[in-house]
Amino acid sequence: MNTLKHAGFAGYLVGGCVRDLMLGREPKDFDVVTDARPEDIRKLFRNARLIGRRFRLAHVRFGRDIIEVATFRAMPRTGNDEETDRQMTAEGRILRDNVFGSQQEDALRRDFTVNALYYDVLDYSVIDYVGGVEDLKQGLVRVIGDPSTRFREDPVRLLRAVRFCAKLGFKIEPLTEAQLPVLAHLLGDVPPARMFEEVLKLFHGGAALETYELLRKYDLWRYLFPLTEEALASEEGGYPRTLVPLALANTDQRIAQGKPVTPAFLFAVLLWQPLHTAIAYHTAQQGHPRPEAMRLAMASVLSQQAEHVAIPRRIAMLVREIWMLQSKFTRRAGNQPFRFLQSERFRAAYDFLLLRTETGEEERDLGDWWTRFQEVEDPERRAMVRQLSRASTASHQRPRRRRRRS
Ligand code: ATP
Ligand code: MG
Repeated sequence: MNTLKHAGFAGYLVGGCVRDLMLGREPKDFDVVTDARPEDIRKLFRNARLIGRRFRLAHVRFGRDIIEVATFRAMPRTGNDEETDRQMTAEGRILRDNVFGSQQEDALRRDFTVNALYYDVLDYSVIDYVGGVEDLKQGLVRVIGDPSTRFREDPVRLLRAVRFCAKLGFKIEPLTEAQLPVLAHLLGDVPPARMFEEVLKLFHGGAALETYELLRKYDLWRYLFPLTEEALASEEGGYPRTLVPLALANTDQRIAQGKPVTPAFLFAVLLWQPLHTAIAYHTAQQGHPRPEAMRLAMASVLSQQAEHVAIPRRIAMLVREIWMLQSKFTRRAGNQPFRFLQSERFRAAYDFLLLRTETGEEERDLGDWWTRFQEVEDPERRAMVRQLSRASTASHQRPRRRRRRS
């Protein structure tokens, strides 16, 4: 910002970082806006790279960090405009929005008042065109302008409203809130790839459980995960009702502890019950043997889900592995548990098993056994396996619990 100012340009921090700083939270990243054009920015910073074909902005490397430096953009007008490169659909969704503008225009095109504050780090002043400071104090997520119009322009804002509400512990301002269930169906028009990005932000932001509850409350959930919603509604076996919130609480906990999280785990959890419904269909109705039914069910559930929220190929592969590995936990004879433990995906599969024991879908003992099996050294592991086989010959019964719906 010093560099910008010395060259005679304006330069401010904007958006989430200002909001978070004012709340005393640690910002995730820093965004800068300026009245300098991208070409000017590139000339000013040796380490700047212009990105984006249509709306160009600069990435300026600053030590290990990359700071996004954007030029003020104008607020959307209605209709298409060749000259200024604006495109809008008949429903009012903005496809392209690439017009430079004034700082005030830049504020008005942002989504929520608390996201439209500018901070001048050189004189410590905050510039507020939209009442964002007051809303920050009140803890309110409020759309800038007319909620219905602004949500139609970009339905992803519906999800963003919920995300900030959950993450910041804010309330949604009533006029904004009223539009959420009314316009929820517009999420169906959002490209699945963008939905995937948003789903990660929703569930890997540290407040997944709260986010999930709000998404259901505002009827947004079923546009993200319709199969899961169906399973939750039918409440078969009671598992999804407990599995989903347990998993999300678990994800929040991992993030709080700085542990890694993977989207595959999330999808494996959310689609677990739909998977079983599909397996049942392919075995009972179609008469397929179990392995074939499993294969067909995985394919159909993942492809149906991907119509709403895209699932990158490598993540879908991991989801399948987590699912398929679940049956290996009950095979504990001979070398099987040793080989399983060595496999690359053991840990993800084990985390999923633990959740299933917590919902009562699988015996708690089985989870405990595997926990201990990992903790002890090889001789004791062999003893554990021997003990199992003795127990099973004694009772003439394999020490495994039958699957719920095999
Ligand atoms: P986070 O802390 O999660 O990154 P953020 O507010 O920084 O939250 P970003 O997605 O990083 O969110 O976006 C940065 C800023 O860009 C927002 O604060 C907002 O001003 C603006 N913005 C982002 N997405 C939209 C949108 N869909 N519509 C309007 N403005 C948006
Ligand atoms: Mg941000």
